[in-house]
Amino acid sequence: MTAPRLEIDLGAIRHNTRSLVERLAPKGIGVTGVSKGALGSPGVAAAMLSGGGSAVGDSRVENLHALRAGGITAPLTLIRSPMLSQVDAVVRCADLSLNTEGRVLDALSVAALSQGTTHAVVLMVELGDLREGIAAAEVVDLARTVTGRPGLVLAGLGTNLACQNGIVPDQTKMDELSKLVEQVEVACHVHLSVVSGGNSATLGWALTCDDAGRIDDLRLGEAILLGLDPLHRTPLEGLRTDAFRLFCEVIELATKPAHPWGDVAQAAFGSPPARRAPGAAPVRQAILAVGRQDVDPDGLTPASGMSVLGASSDHLVISVGDHDVAVGDEVSFGVDYSALLRSATSPFVTKVERLP
Ligand SMILES: *Cc1c(COP(=O)(O)O)cnc(C)c1O
Repeated sequence: MTAPRLEIDLGAIRHNTRSLVERLAPKGIGVTGVSKGALGSPGVAAAMLSGGGSAVGDSRVENLHALRAGGITAPLTLIRSPMLSQVDAVVRCADLSLNTEGRVLDALSVAALSQGTTHAVVLMVELGDLREGIAAAEVVDLARTVTGRPGLVLAGLGTNLACQNGIVPDQTKMDELSKLVEQVEVACHVHLSVVSGGNSATLGWALTCDDAGRIDDLRLGEAILLGLDPLHRTPLEGLRTDAFRLFCEVIELATKPAHPWGDVAQAAFGSPPARRAPGAAPVRQAILAVGRQDVDPDGLTPASGMSVLGASSDHLVISVGDHDVAVGDEVSFGVDYSALLRSATSPFVTKVERLP
């Protein structure tokens, strides 16, 4: 088979989605499956939907196009504020988008009118993580603006925590969002049907809370794809952590000295990696035909007894320990979110999706 190759177990993705959907349903919370970690793969999105996800979200218009072209008919959400330069495409391919900018909302309104359609909008609220979001004090005003714009429908409010500064989503933050929902409903005489409480980092709160308040949706990527809670990168109970595996091919195998020799300056990507303890024995090392262009080497988990020694654009150097490895063999790795994102994006990595 071709290498490098990202093997994707769609059964694991369906299982993870179903498990989370079933545990969140009693709280009144639905799941928007986020496909960006898998580059908007229609196969991955279909697995999320067959596991009970109610919609698919992605941060890139191009990925939303790929989802539609790949046969996904469920509602699609653009989970990043639209670029002004892409508003026409956003109205065409997204049923709903997350927004924070008045100018973008104006442009979405014009685009929706010119296409003879309407576009649903969720306003994102800043609750302390300092990435996207409108200040709480300005939410009602911006909501009024949206309800006054032809072509736009105010679907609800949302927030995003943890991604930028690791701020933990908790009862206080979620209560604040619920309170804002009620203020907007009173001020604008509308009912908000979407209250999107956050990403996978909000699961810790959602799965244990006594009262979810008005929160009725989470946008889940990493928890579904990798089975991990991003706040501590620990496995979520009952979820599979093995949906993705990266296979790479050995192009050189040699036993090399423990240490490089000669004057030391910068390596291809900055400081050379610390190779290993001084005086250590020679190393059986393999070069794999994959590199930083295809994967984040820090996000790879090799088999026990192997370790990653370093990587440049297209060479990944590993110590193979006692493993029986030859040139032409494949070596495989588990991936974290960063390694997954990059390997899903690299045109040099073949994706193989399997449905059991
Ligand atoms: C990426 C993203 C998500 C999904 O995050 P995970 O931690 O992978 O669940 C949700 N919402 C927004 C706005 C995002 O950018």
